[in-house]
Parts: sequence; structure tokens; C-alpha cells
Amino acid sequence: MITIEGLTKAYGAQLAVDDVSFTAAPGRVTGFLGPNGAGKSTSMRVMTGLTRPTSGSARIDGHLFADLPNPGREVGVLLDASAQHAGRTGRETLAIAQRTMGLPRARVAQMLATVGLTEAEAERRVRHYSLGMRQRLGIATALIGDPRVLILDEPANGLDPAGIRWMRDLLRDFADAGGTVLLSSHLLHEIEVVADDLVVIGNGRIVAQGSKAELLEAAGTLVRTGEHTRDRLVAALHAAGLTASLHGDGSVHTDGSPEEVGALALSAHVALTELRSADSAGLEEMFLELTAQSQRDAADHEHQAGHPAAPAESTQSTEGAAA
Ligand code: ADP
Repeated sequence: MITIEGLTKAYGAQLAVDDVSFTAAPGRVTGFLGPNGAGKSTSMRVMTGLTRPTSGSARIDGHLFADLPNPGREVGVLLDASAQHAGRTGRETLAIAQRTMGLPRARVAQMLATVGLTEAEAERRVRHYSLGMRQRLGIATALIGDPRVLILDEPANGLDPAGIRWMRDLLRDFADAGGTVLLSSHLLHEIEVVADDLVVIGNGRIVAQGSKAELLEAAGTLVRTGEHTRDRLVAALHAAGLTASLHGDGSVHTDGSPEEVGALALSAHVALTELRSADSAGLEEMFLELTAQSQRDAADHEHQAGHPAAPAESTQSTEGAAA
């Protein structure tokens, strides 16, 4: 279990992480999602004792990282695979971790096999590794101490599609065995297949969190009708207090459920050609909107220094926004 409470990290006047609270539960894969610069790495560096928070705390199974007697046995960490010592071989890298954690020597060969690095690759220096191989080595280092918690920053970077699939299966198995997995990404599609829960961060602040199922439901509905009835549909949705945004491809995205939208269309005498939950495309759109909104809020806040920030606007729009 990872428990983050009121975590804040300031660099000078800039808040890289701003009052972030969430938990990553055992048995689940938690995806930590946000655009570049949102504060994911900084949060993970605090969790793993590399950065001191300005305020708030991050605990692993109830303990601060710094208080863990043998941290590698409790939490496996992969933050920056390209930061591994370039002059060591893969095997040496793992052997150092094995000795530091007081593990049997056989763990090194076991981990090489687990992450699919061959004997020949293990003897090569890390400077000659591709980014994908470095990610595999980083995951081997994270797993070698048989921890209950994994914290991985953008682990899919540099992996080919087969590698991404392999890592998903590995993380799924780890969580299914009762482990806690927190992994970050700036791309929803990289983590949405494997994540059970999602925490979305924008500009240092959490903008959405919940189970993937709940968030998918909140991602709304996609609905389509003929060109001549589109305005009537949008008007009916608005009249019912729902959002409605028209996409470039002629579809309308709304926060109503498919049932509500179908009933409204029927009473407005609008024939529909498509009606379905917006699924991950809707989720992506919602996240982009939310994280963009948090950037705008921050910009407003800077411009009006000394004045309270304006309340977040709803995401309503009727303009023909591009899809
Ligand atoms: P992410 O991992 O989501 O891409 P980061 O946590 O790396 O985001 O960065 C969050 C913000 O904090 C960014 O604006 C970044 O420039 C800033 N930042 C990160 N590390 C430092 C640092 N050591 N000094 C100053 N600013 C930093």
C-alpha cells in the first residue's frame, strides 16, 4: 500500500506538486497519469526518499521510505532507466543490488530470466544497451528483492509493443499476487489496459481519480445524428443540463448516460445513428480537458497574484471543436 497525504513540493516559487493525496492499494495496478511536467516524477522521487517534500508525506505500508531498514525488500523502484551506471554490465548491476539487499546469488540469474535478458546481453555494458533493455534491467533490479510494492516511472518508454505487452502481464501478475503497483505515464493508452485505478495529475494537482470503471463511466457518451438534427440534439442535451460538444467528425460528446441521451433524443424527435459510451477516447478527452484546465488555472493564478483563483469552469462547449 502506498499512502500519499497532502504532498507538496515547491522549487522556489513553483509548486511542482501541490497538495496531492491518494492511495495505491494492494492487489491493484494504479496508473499515475499526467502530461509532461505535471509532477509525476517529483511525487515518485518523494515516495522513494530521493526528494524531501515541502510538506505532506508519502508512506509505503505505513512507513516513510527513509525509515525502511532494507528498502529494496519492501519496494521495487524504477525511476530513470537511463541513469544506470553505463560502465557496468547488466549482470554486475544486478549483483550489486543482490549483495546490497543480502539476497542469495541465484537471484541474479533468476531476474535475468524473468525480464528476458540473455546471458550474452547480461555480459554487455549498460552503455551498449537499448532503452528497452535498460527498462528490462531496471525492472529486474526493482524485482530482485521480492518487494510487495513497485513504483515505476514511465516504464514503457523505449519498449516495443511486445515489450509493453510483456510488462503489462508482469505487472498484472504482480498485483494479482497481492502486490501494489504504481506506474506513471503521460499516455493513457499505455496504462489503461493494465490499470485498475487511475490518478490523473495536471500542473501538480490531482484532477481526477478513481477506478478505471468509474472514470470510464464519467467519460460520458458519444452520440451521432444526421446533420440537420444535430443542433436540435445539442439543444435538447443543454436544456436537460448536460454538456454537449460537437466534434469535427460530426459526433456529439456529452456527460449524460446513453439511457438519458436516448430518452432525450426520442422526446426531441431526433433520430440517432449512433449511441454508445465514449470509452477510452472519451476518457482521454476528459483528461486532456482537465489537465489543460489546470494549466489555465495556474496561469490565471499567476496573472492575478494576490487574488483568489477563479472557480474551475465546467467543460461545456457547443462550438465545433476539433476531435
Ligand atoms: P512529470 O514527471 O510529470 O513530467 P516532474 O515531476 O518531472 O513532472 O516536474 C514537475 C515540475 O517540477 C516541472 O515544472 C519541472 O520543471 C519542475 N521540476 C522538477 N524537478 C525540478 C528541480 N529539481 N528543480 C526545479 N524544478 C523542478
